[in-house]
Parts: sequence; structure tokens; C-alpha cells
Amino acid sequence: ATATIGSSLIPIINRLQDILAPFGGELSKISLPQVAVVGSQSSGKSSVLEALIGRDFLPRGCDICTRRPLALMLENRPRKKADDDGREWAEFRHLPGRRFYDFATVREEIMAETNKEAGANKGVSDKQIRLKISSPKVLNMTLIDLPGITKVPVGDQPTDIEARIRRMIMAHIKQENCIILAVTPANSDLATSDALQMAKEADPTGTRTIGVITKLDIMDRGTNACNFLLGKVVPLCLGYVGVVNRCQEDINQNRSIQDALAYEAQFFRDQPVYNGLSDRCGIPQLAKKLNQILEQQIRIVLPGLKSELNSRMIAVAKELKKYGHVMESKAEQEVILLNILTRYCDAFSAMVDGTSQEMSTK
Ligand code: GDP
Ligand code: MG
Repeated sequence: ATATIGSSLIPIINRLQDILAPFGGELSKISLPQVAVVGSQSSGKSSVLEALIGRDFLPRGCDICTRRPLALMLENRPRKKADDDGREWAEFRHLPGRRFYDFATVREEIMAETNKEAGANKGVSDKQIRLKISSPKVLNMTLIDLPGITKVPVGDQPTDIEARIRRMIMAHIKQENCIILAVTPANSDLATSDALQMAKEADPTGTRTIGVITKLDIMDRGTNACNFLLGKVVPLCLGYVGVVNRCQEDINQNRSIQDALAYEAQFFRDQPVYNGLSDRCGIPQLAKKLNQILEQQIRIVLPGLKSELNSRMIAVAKELKKYGHVMESKAEQEVILLNILTRYCDAFSAMVDGTSQEMSTK
């Protein structure tokens, strides 16, 4: 039942984000829940996102691959229409109307579009790439893949690359509505984690930070991540989840995510030390935890979102009056859209309050 609440609200928020994106700076006035990954370069951020989505399409590797923030808007598409074969597709904001059914081409397009803005030689840019994924098999949410923290400039990177990337990350994770996945590899020391340090700065109370420990499979022999996962090294309010993603060889050999998830499950079964910690182990547990937190957050931001929508509607209506009656004008369409959105929010509130069973928008 918890998944249903999330699924019914987030399409509205994604749509709102779509509508508001052209307004640029004004967008920040409305807080929308999203999830961002932070961590050092090659800590496994893109791998974690891919595994959470269950689709192969992000550039990953041992070098700097993610060089522009990538906003992934996952949109659950219920299979109601008879002509919907349930296939999933991706659509870029910079290529409207073009549906990508082959996710390998999505990766190519992300790389091409990255090069366009950030150059071909390891440069970075803070201009987002926005990608919508429509599928009956995804949970509704927006995920942000961010470049990793680096220390030494390489290629065309400016000398202040570290400060630049930190600023870019902060701009995303300091937003109150952003759930932070702080990614640290298990083979490094949690106490010196860049991810946790930045997350702490952006979210001092830790109420929206989940610790993710990657690479549990390549820890030093004789060590394990139990103390990390139990929060004994760096305590975190929302706790940690440990994961095993594909290694570079798996990627080179095109090993599927499904295989990787099966391997991960087997890995945890085979390691007796993790038996008592099954609620903190594995990508499925991370997905579950995320969904619960997201839902919680949506309930909190809903009243604010609603009043923001109302005041926007009043402002747009005033603007419309000034121009007289122009049929099908952009402003008019906005009023209609905002009206619909407000009604969605009301219906959602009623559902949460238990006064209504369905998301009627009539
Ligand atoms: P990012 O730079 O943080 O986005 O990291 P990537 O997701 O691109 O991963 C960097 C490298 O680490 C890739 O070669 C991955 O295959 C590898 N990697 C990521 N997670 C794991 C893991 O859990 N185990 C192993 N063995 N390798 C991993
Ligand atoms: Mg990456």
C-alpha cells in the first residue's frame, strides 16, 4: 500500500517540475522530492543508480564518466491501454518527441550531450541533462546522478576542479527536499568519506541522508563492513545499506543487471557475517528504504506545495487579465494546468487523511 501512495503523487510532481523547468531560477521556490548520489569519483554512484532503476544506460567506469548532472525522471506508466505493449522508453529534454527504446543508445546520447557542453577531454559542466524514463516497471521518482568529487585536475579540467564539483553537488543536495545517497566504497575508510562529509554539511541533522556502502565484494580479506552498516564508525540517523554492484569486468562483458542482482543476493547468502543484517544489505533493501523515506517527505512538503501552487495560480490569473482574452495563450494553458495540479493535490490530501479512497481529478 505504501508504494501506491508514492506512485500516485510523484507523477504530479514530475509534471510540475517539467512545467516549471523553463522558469529557471523560480523553480527553486517550489521544493520537490528527489534523490541525489554523492561520493568520490569511481565510488560506484552511477552503478547504484543503474541497479536501483534496473536498466543499463549510464556511462560508468574507472575514469571520470559522469561530467554533467543527470536528472532521471522515472515515470510509472500504468498499462491500461490495449495498444500499450508495456515497453519502456527514454526521452531527453533536449530531444523532445524522440523515444529511445534501446538503452545502449541512451548511454551514447548522454555521452554525446556531455561532450557538447563539457568538451571531450574530461571537462565538467553544471548544466543538467534531463532524461525521462517511462516504464510500467519503475517507481515514480527523480534521481540525480552527479559527477564525483576529484582532487587533481586531469585533461581539460580547470585547476579549481574540486571546488567546482563541490559547488555543483552542494547546489543539488542542500535543497531541503533532496534525499542524499552518500556513497562510500567499503574498501576505504568511512571516517574520511567525502560523501559523508558533504552530506553532513548539506544535511546537518541527517534526516535525509542514507549511507550506501559499495564494493563489499572487494574488501581486504579478513575484514567486513558490519561496523559500517551498524553505524558504529559514523552514525547516521537513517542508517546504511551495503551493496555489491558489477565490477569493471562485468561491465566489459555486458553482464546484465538481473545477473548482477542475483549475484549480489548470493553474495550476501554466502557471507555468514551479514546474515543478521539482511535489512541493511542489497539493492532491493535500498530501494525499499528510499521509497519509505520519499513517501514520508512527500507528506511533509504537500501543504507548502499546495499553497505555492495557489499563489502562482492567482499571479498567472492576474497576468492573464492584463492581456485580455487571448485564446490558447501560454498563460491560459498554465492556469488550466495549475488548476488540475491543485486538484490532484487536494485529492491526494483527502486520500492521506482517509476521507477518500481514490485519486479523482474530476
Ligand atoms: P561513479 O564514478 O561513482 O559513478 O562510479 P561508477 O558507477 O562509474 O563505478 C566505478 C567503477 O567501480 C566501475 O568500474 C564499476 O564497475 C566499479 N564498481 C562499482 N560498484 C562496485 C561494486 O560494488 N563492486 C565492484 N567489484 N566494483 C564496483
Ligand atoms: Mg558516475
